[in-house]
Amino acid sequence: MNLILFGPPGAGKGTQAARLRDEFGVAHLSTGEMLRQAVAEGSAIGKKVKAVMDAGHLVSDALITGVLAERLAQKDCANGFILDGYPRTPAQAEALDALLEDMGLKIDAAIEIEVDEDILVERVAKRAREAGKTRSDDNTATLRERLRVYHEQTAPVLPYYRERQLLHSVDGMAPVDGVTRQIKAVLNGAAR
Ligand code: AMP
Repeated sequence: MNLILFGPPGAGKGTQAARLRDEFGVAHLSTGEMLRQAVAEGSAIGKKVKAVMDAGHLVSDALITGVLAERLAQKDCANGFILDGYPRTPAQAEALDALLEDMGLKIDAAIEIEVDEDILVERVAKRAREAGKTRSDDNTATLRERLRVYHEQTAPVLPYYRERQLLHSVDGMAPVDGVTRQIKAVLNGAAR
């Protein structure tokens, strides 16, 4: 099973991907996590992307596609993978198709987790007020910028998968278990 999860920042892609990874034994590929790790290690890539990430903007298509291609070649992806945070632009969707074609693989389903963004922003604001922030890009101003970037650059990717009859939507405002159930129902349908 090769799956893509779409949804604005804070929609719960990471939570759902981790659950599906545990249940289906597939790899969870979060490009944001790969980049945060590169920043933490102080690698050349990390140094290049830190300021862009902190501003809530996207790193270049070529850079992130290179990072993803390396990760996809690792053994644990052989059983399938869940993409969380990639593709984020139409150019990345095309690069992914080319990459998968070379590997003899394809996407089985793309799932959009739909959420009420005003409620998301309020949740993040509340968390920041209560706990102090844990990630340097995790504040409401940056969240609003990341939402803007999502609509401007990532939402245009959805028609690419809709046209290929791969796109499904689930209600991301449901409780976490309910969202997982909806995704599994989509996957059951896609496997038939
Ligand atoms: P995420 O954890 O998926 O929200 O990603 C955190 C940050 O990493 C994003 O705001 C971008 O700066 C960068 N990033 C992650 N994935 C991509 C991608 N596919 N294309 C461009 N930038 C990305």
